[in-house]
Amino acid sequence: MKCQTGKNSYSTKSLAETALIDIHIHRNFPPDQGPQNVYQCEFCGGWHFTSKSQKRNVRLQEMIDFGEMRRLQQARRWE
Ligand SMILES: [Zn+2]
Repeated sequence: MKCQTGKNSYSTKSLAETALIDIHIHRNFPPDQGPQNVYQCEFCGGWHFTSKSQKRNVRLQEMIDFGEMRRLQQARRWE
């Protein structure tokens, strides 16, 4: 799906959240860097990442809190 914002668009919130978590793992972002949450777009109706959210995405936050994000990032580094 193409959007005038030029951002990647995901058809559901769940898909966007999964992609958000994935990008944190693959790009090895510290918790406060990279996209922080997802939002529904007023132009295309799809879901995009935002880096300017006041509040971190709940699924992402839980992975950070439980140490899961760091574990996955480290596992990837040693591949
Ligand atoms: Zn859009």
